[in-house]
Amino acid sequence: MPSLGASPEVPCARCGSRIAGLAWGERCAQCRAELSRRAGRLANRISLAATVLMGAYVALSMPPQPMARLYGAIAVVATYIVVRRIAGRVAMEMMK
Ligand SMILES: [Zn+2]
Repeated sequence: MPSLGASPEVPCARCGSRIAGLAWGERCAQCRAELSRRAGRLANRISLAATVLMGAYVALSMPPQPMARLYGAIAVVATYIVVRRIAGRVAMEMMK
């Protein structure tokens, strides 16, 4: 066990800058932040598109009663939240 006590410098898997205490194959904090920023942007775009589609579907298919419109609005908001979360996770996985 050569790593007891000392933390060797390990190159970042993406940019190659050597960081002490990094695990092999891991990215440095900067690259991880950059990655999650990009994943967040992508997830935002996907979820907005899904929300627009859901909004169009609700607007076209719901009867014009107040309760139906309320449920439609809730469905649209829920679509945004759920898709945003899933797309964020998938984007993070795909960008590895
Ligand atoms: Zn890096």
